[in-house]
Amino acid sequence: MAARKPTTRTAKPAAPATPPPCEPCDGTGQVAVTVRVGRRHRVVGSQEGMCLACFGTGTA
Ligand SMILES: [Zn+2]
Repeated sequence: MAARKPTTRTAKPAAPATPPPCEPCDGTGQVAVTVRVGRRHRVVGSQEGMCLACFGTGTA
């Protein structure tokens, strides 16, 4: 009578799923924000602002 060895399952670590990049910022975590100034809200340019969709993480 042979004692059966309990089959030890080697737990394979799940492959790290790469999170999809955020769409509005394209994964950068920053988006261009138009800067308006004055009463007429004249656009004077744009600056980098934190993406509100991913909160600067760059991943959705
Ligand atoms: Zn984003």
